[in-house]
Amino acid sequence: EKYDKGLEKSRRTFGQFMNELFSNFRVVDDEFFEELEEALISSDVGFDMAMTISDELQEEVKLRNVKKPKDVERTIVEKLVEIYDSEGENENNEINFQASGPTIILFVGVNGVGKTTSIGKMANRYRKEGKKVLLAAADTFRAGAIDQLVVWGERAGVEVVRHKPGSDPAAVVFDAVDRTKKEGYDVLLVDTAGRLQNKVNLMKELEKMKRVIEREYPSAPHEVLLVVDATTGQNALIQAKQFKETTDVTGLVLSKLDGTAKGGIVLAIRHELKLPVKLVGLGEGIDDLHDFNPDQFVYGLFK
Ligand code: GDP
Repeated sequence: EKYDKGLEKSRRTFGQFMNELFSNFRVVDDEFFEELEEALISSDVGFDMAMTISDELQEEVKLRNVKKPKDVERTIVEKLVEIYDSEGENENNEINFQASGPTIILFVGVNGVGKTTSIGKMANRYRKEGKKVLLAAADTFRAGAIDQLVVWGERAGVEVVRHKPGSDPAAVVFDAVDRTKKEGYDVLLVDTAGRLQNKVNLMKELEKMKRVIEREYPSAPHEVLLVVDATTGQNALIQAKQFKETTDVTGLVLSKLDGTAKGGIVLAIRHELKLPVKLVGLGEGIDDLHDFNPDQFVYGLFK
């Protein structure tokens, strides 16, 4: 339900375009596919993906001898889901949650993408499930980042480990890991600074944090989630690529999907990066973070 609402903008453009396509064409011909490609490209699926989808659809249509545009609709939905699934190297769409011992998750991404908000939402969700959640304010670089995380900690009803601005992020993580162990936390969510301008420093900083975590918990961090802002379209893609070069990202959080009419960016990101979208942000509220489900997503675009 929430999913439907969060995709309203994308649906209004893409869905409407599709409906027009289905009613304007009486038969499925070359022109039909050209218009379909245009619709896909304008929803930020990316050129390559639009062509792949169109080519595969054309084959399918021939194979099944489909003539009416309306009969293609279902095939399009199936194809989009199938293509999403086939793009993955890592098929685990879910958070790698640990059955025993703490689950430690690092959040990376540039400022303003919705990192703090996503952490707050996730903390709230786990706390509501009865888990003991701790946050680490390891973005000590940006003025205000620590306070902002503390505000979200209060909202979500969870504790936040913080040091002074400008202090060593790895020291914050060290304390947070220590508390996690001593006080038996189930989940530790770590906020990090997103300074892509200085990739070498960022890389070193992230590696140091990881080492501190690994020393105590060798299989951790269990996820390194990259938060990207869906409303920035192709820019989100470029950013994500750069982050992937900086550190081992295990999955994506696509924030502000509710704020874009170009939900197709999900497919473009998936195609370019082969990373699973694990969570999507569908609003500013504390309950507006959802598991990503390709089927629901694609159906949401059409409904
Ligand atoms: P950070 O700098 O990456 O930590 O970004 P913030 O968490 O402060 O978020 C930046 C802005 O984006 C804030 O105004 C948030 O309310 C907003 N925001 C974050 N996630 C979402 C979302 O899923 N949907 C919408 N509409 N806004 C969001």
